[in-house]
Amino acid sequence: MNEHDSERLAGLLVNEGLAPAESEAEADVVIFNTCTIRENADLKLYSALGHLKAVKAARPTMQIAVGGCMAQHERGRIIERADWVDVVFGTHNLHDAPSLLRRARTEGPIVDVDDAPDPVVSRDMAPALTAVRELPWAAWMTIQTGCDNSCSYCIVPDVRGGEISRPFADLVTEATALAAAGVTEITVLGQNVNSYGRDLTKRRPLFADLLRALGDVEGIERIRFTSPHPKDLRPETIAAIAETASVCPQLHLPLQSGSNRVLTAMRRGYSAERYLERLASARAAITDLAVTTDLIVGYPGETEEDFEATLAVVAEAQYDSAFTFIFSPRDGTRAARMVEDFVPEEVIKDRFERLKNVLDRSALRAHASREGRLEEVLLEGPSRRSDQRWSGRTRQGKLVHVDTDEQLRAGSLVEVYVDHGAPYHLMGHVTRVIRPPRHKVRIALRVS
Ligand code: SF4
Repeated sequence: MNEHDSERLAGLLVNEGLAPAESEAEADVVIFNTCTIRENADLKLYSALGHLKAVKAARPTMQIAVGGCMAQHERGRIIERADWVDVVFGTHNLHDAPSLLRRARTEGPIVDVDDAPDPVVSRDMAPALTAVRELPWAAWMTIQTGCDNSCSYCIVPDVRGGEISRPFADLVTEATALAAAGVTEITVLGQNVNSYGRDLTKRRPLFADLLRALGDVEGIERIRFTSPHPKDLRPETIAAIAETASVCPQLHLPLQSGSNRVLTAMRRGYSAERYLERLASARAAITDLAVTTDLIVGYPGETEEDFEATLAVVAEAQYDSAFTFIFSPRDGTRAARMVEDFVPEEVIKDRFERLKNVLDRSALRAHASREGRLEEVLLEGPSRRSDQRWSGRTRQGKLVHVDTDEQLRAGSLVEVYVDHGAPYHLMGHVTRVIRPPRHKVRIALRVS
């Protein structure tokens, strides 16, 4: 979500006539789009701002802005600590960044953070079309902002507010426009995508309908989404994934812990048994499904018994990969106040290693089982080290490296024979080009 917000911010600045600079030192405008989910976000921000202080002193016309979750939370405190910052804006008024920067040129430093999202603006947010995308054929599409849940460790509901869904028709129109611009892959974004539309209508599960409608958009070949909440993974959604050809067989289903005691303390709204049941239903319905997850190690009060329950669920779930996090408190959350129950650092480190071993084994097993298979790979480009090694993603979202002497083109869809499966990637060789790139390439015009 944060990365997509950065793309949208870049798009807003390009619309103002700005272009990307080679380095911060040359930039007229530097925006830090902060994310408090990241560990040590505040240290990183203030150290980067400290670095820019001298640049700004030497070139006072340069403008510095801070946005995102940390700005939403810290507000005026940012300018108190770094008075060379020109603008602070929050998560609910990202679209105001260009006008705030313009005003700050004449009015001086501005802190403008809305307490809650304006429903009209959120529903009508700048479409993905104007975003400056890293890969021209792949677009993020935000379908909802905020979250109605209250996980005890999470700051998102505080900084992003409650769930607001964008209108169904707008999303289909946006996907159609993206396809016309040459986008072939869309990643649908939301804090809890499968509750999409609950604020629009109680009539039926709109997320499943949305997947099917996006699946009908001509030119969109791959649809991914992140993240669904396990408690809201309904049979209708599983059926829509299974029956919509362009929805990729990939499910990121955050488990967080395998201990029911810890899951209750986290306020996650499901038990380990319920989670595994839903996962089994998804696997039974969706052919060749890749499953990934998020896990937190060392939640306050986590005992050895709780941790072993997590290991057992992880072993049973057989994940293709996982994002593992060491618990770190976020100011203002219920879990951050459980200081007396914090798990000692050395215990967490040991558990983290043990969890990694179990996850690596299942990832290796999943990837080794793909050796000798043909995969459809969307090529992203050559590696930094060698022009002969290219990388891309399979429909399941797996990273594939191919060694080749052929002239390949980023954005092409190719068929790859998998020679080897490693824990974090696949190795293979291209057997044929399925289709050339479809995205539009901008050609610079020189006027003399
Ligand atoms: S579902 Fe829980 S973890 Fe995810 S954004 Fe909402 S409160 Fe945070």
